[in-house]
Amino acid sequence: MKKIAILGSTGSIGTQTLEVVRGQKDLQVVALAAGTNVKKMEEQIREFSPSVAAMWTQEAAADLRERVSDLNVRVIWGMEGLLEIAEFPESQVLVTAIVGMIGIRPTIAAIRAGKNIALANKETLVCAGHIIMPLAEECGVSILPVDSEHSAIFQSLNGEPGERIEKILLTASGGPFRGRSRQQLEQVRPEDALRHPNWTMGPKITIDSATLVNKGLEVMEAKWLFGVGLERIEVVVHPQSILHSAVQYADGAIMAQMGMPDMKLPIQYALFYPDRRPMEGERVDLFSLGQLTFEKPDPETFQGLSLAFAAARAGGSLPTVYNAANEKAVALFLEGSIPFLGIPELIGEAMERHRIVSCPGVEEILEAERESRESVMKGMERFRS
Ligand code: NDP
Repeated sequence: MKKIAILGSTGSIGTQTLEVVRGQKDLQVVALAAGTNVKKMEEQIREFSPSVAAMWTQEAAADLRERVSDLNVRVIWGMEGLLEIAEFPESQVLVTAIVGMIGIRPTIAAIRAGKNIALANKETLVCAGHIIMPLAEECGVSILPVDSEHSAIFQSLNGEPGERIEKILLTASGGPFRGRSRQQLEQVRPEDALRHPNWTMGPKITIDSATLVNKGLEVMEAKWLFGVGLERIEVVVHPQSILHSAVQYADGAIMAQMGMPDMKLPIQYALFYPDRRPMEGERVDLFSLGQLTFEKPDPETFQGLSLAFAAARAGGSLPTVYNAANEKAVALFLEGSIPFLGIPELIGEAMERHRIVSCPGVEEILEAERESRESVMKGMERFRS
């Protein structure tokens, strides 16, 4: 029996992880954490019987405690709660399906406690990859990618040594605004940006897909996961989202993983690696697809991608500034306070203002986050009128 804990169990990746658990008799959920969705957490506790559950706020925890008072589950809250779920002694794998930089401290705690990490929370690697990857090696734990592109690369690598990689081909659907000009993006509203052509995901990552910031974050994620230089990572727009990424080897061979756009496959692969388990579901029908197409990204229109390469090249605390400015700007866009193109604009400004710290510790990362959020708040003033 493999015992797992999940951070962010009520979200898109969290609920799909629980769908995978439903289909596998030898997976057991022992600990769950979420933000404020008490109703969904109650349902999950009733179905999966974890020993402990954490909510982000004290009020949400109090509400949950009352709802599940007939059950044998301990309810905790706050960052202490997240850390406890991450380190929970009975679990062997932690699924990090929480959104944003808040995942950094729990992920570090889980690694120190010897848990393997099924990592969806890419923001953690973007900001703290220089801490996470060496620590995982030191503690002998595996960081198993859940992101579909990184899972595809991991599957295509299949244990081959990193020095044989000539290039990583990181695919991107291009999002809902592929092919549009900057001018055409001036008036787009949150509801347009939330309509992803191929994937159903949480709101933050869906906006990140529309700006291509998600691809920028994934470039940095790939750099850390696979230990390759940025010059060997190429973004390829592939609108059908069937080929989930590929590795080009030193002999010219390209190994790719294809499949339906369904996150349950990479989630299950990460949970059972190196075992490949059967899974029900729709299959790719190459005949009805007819063709797969590939294009270069448009870095002029989608400046979120160019800024990501700049942040990754500079390194240190700049990827944190990129990520934190984006988190804040996306929240402002979703509430209607800034336009769509304001997102990369505010990220760029925050990056320009920042003085880079070369190898930031967790406190310095959090300080860069604060500074970056403040910069975005200052910058948004001009959109008020
Ligand atoms: P969602 O917004 O759907 O879910 C986020 C989850 O995190 C929810 O369970 C939410 O709880 C929880 N959460 C948010 N804030 C806190 C907090 N302060 N404390 C505890 N829990 C919190 O996001 P996604 O599932 O889409 O994405 C999760 C991560 O996975 C992101 O890093 C994303 O980039 C990555 N990812 C997502 C993919 C996808 O297909 N969705 C694909 C690849 C990567 P609640 O709802 O209760 O508030």
